[in-house]
Amino acid sequence: MITAPRQAVFWPEPKRTIVMAPILASYAQDRWHKAVSGFEDIQSAVNGQIIAQASSSGLDFGGLVQHARNKGGPALRKLNFHQRADMIKKLALYLTERKQTLYDLSFNTGATSRDNLFDIDGGIGTLFAYASMAKKHLPDKYILAEEVETLSRNGTFMGTHILSSLQGVAVHINAYNFPCWGMLEKLAPAIIAGVPVITKPATVTSYVAHAVAQMIVDSGIFPPGAFQFICGSTGDLLDHLEGQDVLSFTGSITTSEKLRNHPIISANAVRFIAERDSLNAAVLGPDISPDMPEFDLFIRAVTQEMTVKAGQKCTAIRRIMVPETIIAEVTTALKARLDRIVVGDPQHEGVTMGPLAGLAQREDVRRHVATLAQESEIVFGDPQHCDPLGASDQSGAFMSPVLLQNLNPRDATSVHHTEAFGPVATIMPYTSLADAACLVKRGEGSLVATLCTYDDNVAAELVASLASFHGRLHILDRDCAKESTGHGSPLPALVHGGPGRAGGGEELGGIRGIRHYMQRTALQASPTRLTRLTGRWTIGAQEALRKEHPFRYNFAQLTVGDTIHTQPRTITVQDIEHFAEFTGDTFYAHTDEKAAAANPFFPGRVAHGYLLLSFAAGLFVDPAPGPLLANYGLESLRFLKPVSPGDAIQVRLTVKSKNAAREPHYGEVRWDVELFNQNKETVARYDLLTMSAQPAAA
Ligand code: NDP
Repeated sequence: MITAPRQAVFWPEPKRTIVMAPILASYAQDRWHKAVSGFEDIQSAVNGQIIAQASSSGLDFGGLVQHARNKGGPALRKLNFHQRADMIKKLALYLTERKQTLYDLSFNTGATSRDNLFDIDGGIGTLFAYASMAKKHLPDKYILAEEVETLSRNGTFMGTHILSSLQGVAVHINAYNFPCWGMLEKLAPAIIAGVPVITKPATVTSYVAHAVAQMIVDSGIFPPGAFQFICGSTGDLLDHLEGQDVLSFTGSITTSEKLRNHPIISANAVRFIAERDSLNAAVLGPDISPDMPEFDLFIRAVTQEMTVKAGQKCTAIRRIMVPETIIAEVTTALKARLDRIVVGDPQHEGVTMGPLAGLAQREDVRRHVATLAQESEIVFGDPQHCDPLGASDQSGAFMSPVLLQNLNPRDATSVHHTEAFGPVATIMPYTSLADAACLVKRGEGSLVATLCTYDDNVAAELVASLASFHGRLHILDRDCAKESTGHGSPLPALVHGGPGRAGGGEELGGIRGIRHYMQRTALQASPTRLTRLTGRWTIGAQEALRKEHPFRYNFAQLTVGDTIHTQPRTITVQDIEHFAEFTGDTFYAHTDEKAAAANPFFPGRVAHGYLLLSFAAGLFVDPAPGPLLANYGLESLRFLKPVSPGDAIQVRLTVKSKNAAREPHYGEVRWDVELFNQNKETVARYDLLTMSAQPAAA
């Protein structure tokens, strides 16, 4: 909560009115906590003025953890995946209506309007994406069940894996560069998994995160204890963590090591996810010459990655690898493009790059550029000076983009180890693809690399040698450039994280991101017991033979295990010939006895697989109008044994699982369908997907 002003601050520019530096409160145990001491001043990146103060002093960190465990966790676990996803969607809508407030605050972090699209719209977009993925791919249940394994000869003892919500708390410690996105991209998967969150933003941009937190609290969407927010240091928070908790961190290697080696984190095997410094590379393929479209795409991608968020992106390109034969052309083109970047006050028209997050951060970047410059030559930009539009580089943390060149990267070390977290990158030549791969790997693991090539062999060779060193590979060419989301954008559906130096963690990646907050447990039992526990019918489990055909029951009335066994139907040569003629599928295995017999898989002419599916439907449907609304697909279809003329097929149709649909008037029903021949041998098996009306609409 932004509370009563402690101290007045006067902005020097006439356009800015007098404002007070508010104290940013923490949200702990369902109330706002305002510290009375230990304040850290937070300065505007644009003009250095103090705009807020943060302190977490006086917080009972153990109390926060207990509150999350005792109140937030149980409340979230009472809701199923869909209900939690609904909350995330509601929150996304709530924040969307208020995002102008966040944009306005963000300008002081140095973010331009374009940067805000990544941080604010990107953060809210991640909430929408997670809500949607969870409704689509997760059941309206409390646990996730994986595939069933048969563990015994007679099928009376089976195994599966289930994932259940951890009964602890997710502690999220975030970096300063994305105060909104960083908080929301971690929050969505944890809440959908049923785990309460304690989030701690980096102090320097915490006023933006604080505004998001305030909106989350004001929305009243989450149950008590599900969301807590620490503004300031984490005190002794980590001392209270246990084996059911998750610590997810984004930031520097130094802090990451400190946290990973914290005695409680290692002793209690607290799950630790780290996403940290990364010397991401961009490789221009040896097949690309300056007259090809990929050349220009490469120049644009590198410039964008150097300058969006003033290069303060964990995914930014730091190392640019180009064929030695065209390094001069690439350097010239890059310099020309960087020359078009306008550094200045993000609110000033025409500005394309704002300042760094603060003066301390700029000092850090300058120090790292000095280290890099011991081995490389600065070919564009002056790290010590720039002339920002509408601002001063004395009071604001402005810095020119800086391009370095290293002509001997095999012997260099700093270029592969030093991350200048700003608009800084180094260009270097390579002699062969193997050399390029070797140089990229000197980064010791990265979040992402861009490979810009239009040659299949180049792409294949680089992917083979670099994939295990990266969390994501972005292959850029003329065919995908227009719609490419770019090198630097982590996407909710794809994994974000990388091995080695990048932290060894993994976030996002669709439903994978939710699983980080759940425990996988192997479950062994009889098929009937497994069906009852998981809500998913498995072969060998009890079947329910009800009075009516299952298509007569609406979604609510259907129960998992409801089954019918059909009458047999004998397949004749005439059936096969009719089907071949009718559909045009005259493949020899169905029409030519001699050719079919020569095929090692067939005894002679056999029925079409699709004929069997059609006859199966003819056997199991109940044709009259009723609650079954539509068939929307088949999954996992396998034809297991050929069916010859004279064989008789029969069908078992069983309700395998039920899932609430996005629309309230129907539900999704998955059926296990098995086709047998007259010898009780399975000839085909698949999942049939249908929509069944809910009672009110039935
Ligand atoms: P830090 O690692 O110092 O901080 C990251 C987060 O950790 C902040 O929220 C910080 O809080 C918190 N933190 C710091 N020390 C502790 C601790 N002992 N216990 C618990 N939490 C702690 O990184 P910075 O944000 O200062 O950035 C430094 C460098 O990290 C950058 O220059 C860059 O190289 C790299 N970085 C990498 C990012 C990535 O995504 N890979 C993102 C941002 C930075 P507080 O702010 O209150 O200190």
